[in-house]
Amino acid sequence: MDGFSVGQGAALTGVCDLCRTNIAADQAVYGQVRDSSFAHPTDPQKDGMRRVTACSVDHLADLQQLYRERPFVKEELWEAKIDRAMQQHHFRLSNEQLVEATGLNLLQIEAAARWRLGFSPPESDAGGERA
Ligand SMILES: [Zn+2]
Repeated sequence: MDGFSVGQGAALTGVCDLCRTNIAADQAVYGQVRDSSFAHPTDPQKDGMRRVTACSVDHLADLQQLYRERPFVKEELWEAKIDRAMQQHHFRLSNEQLVEATGLNLLQIEAAARWRLGFSPPESDAGGERA
């Protein structure tokens, strides 16, 4: 039972990805976790590495543990890359353009499509709402 301390003048910077508590600027703890459902909006080098925010080091550790237990599926990561490229290009990409935009080859794109058909996403928490 955590008490909420709202409206005490602290600038809120975010919400703990674990417990959803609002976090003040000097309390936020940041970390990175491996997450195959995550494609970075602008930097493909950071695909699969989700930045998480926590209210305490304990919750950061819990978050890291949760993601450690979550399977890292490369098809899921490819799917996330395709999704990002499609959204950036308003879903009007030929296969060739998709290859160029994602850095994947056609086999990988096919594998990602099969993965999407065969599996439903495990869970969609961690604040990753889709538009
Ligand atoms: Zn927390």
